[in-house]
Amino acid sequence: MITLALSKGRIFEETLPLLKAAGIEVLEDPETSRKLILTTNQPNVRVLVVRATDVPTYVQYGGADLGITGRDTLLEHGSDGLYQPLDLQIAKCRISVAVRSDFDYATAVKKGSRLTVATKYVAISRDFFAAKGVHVDLIKLYGSMELAPLVGMADAIVDLVSTGNTLKANQLVEVERIMDISSRLVVNQAALKLKQAPIRKIIDAFAAAIGQ
Ligand code: AMP
Repeated sequence: MITLALSKGRIFEETLPLLKAAGIEVLEDPETSRKLILTTNQPNVRVLVVRATDVPTYVQYGGADLGITGRDTLLEHGSDGLYQPLDLQIAKCRISVAVRSDFDYATAVKKGSRLTVATKYVAISRDFFAAKGVHVDLIKLYGSMELAPLVGMADAIVDLVSTGNTLKANQLVEVERIMDISSRLVVNQAALKLKQAPIRKIIDAFAAAIGQ
């Protein structure tokens, strides 16, 4: 059995064409089904539906042989023991700093004054501002980061940005791009050794589908 861990939403949808290229079709829709283990047209391939931040953990501990997860998640939660053969170039976005449109970010950063930053990405933010020599107080949030500057709880947020519509709807402006994000294929190292042929077949099919 080959087990692939995926999260619902953009990553799941953008993985379907890659799976198809590998001859795999998922037979259930995670948006309508409550099942957490989805069957495929291949009796020896199944898909686990897990939270995006849990994908590396499932693969690391062997709950899944393979997984697909964002670069943001791998950087924030670690990627120890994971083989990362492919950047799949899916679920593309960027991780950026955003502030209220009336906040003078350039001056705040230049003066070297302390900046309060609300984010789900504490590790990425700490590294980014440390490299710039900016002192930051980080407030860890689990969602709706956009609220923090609006209620005066933080000067800035660090969050994923795709179209920029969410920031715009909340009168926030993107002031700095930290890095580009896309999703990676991650593989359990032991599974790669034990189930080499079927896993290699999937990696090769994905690579061919994305032109690598
Ligand atoms: P947007 O309004 O298109 O800029 O999207 C921003 C919102 O969608 C933010 O709340 C992000 O956390 C989320 N988002 C954008 N791109 C992704 C992605 N590739 N993976 C997960 N969440 C994302």
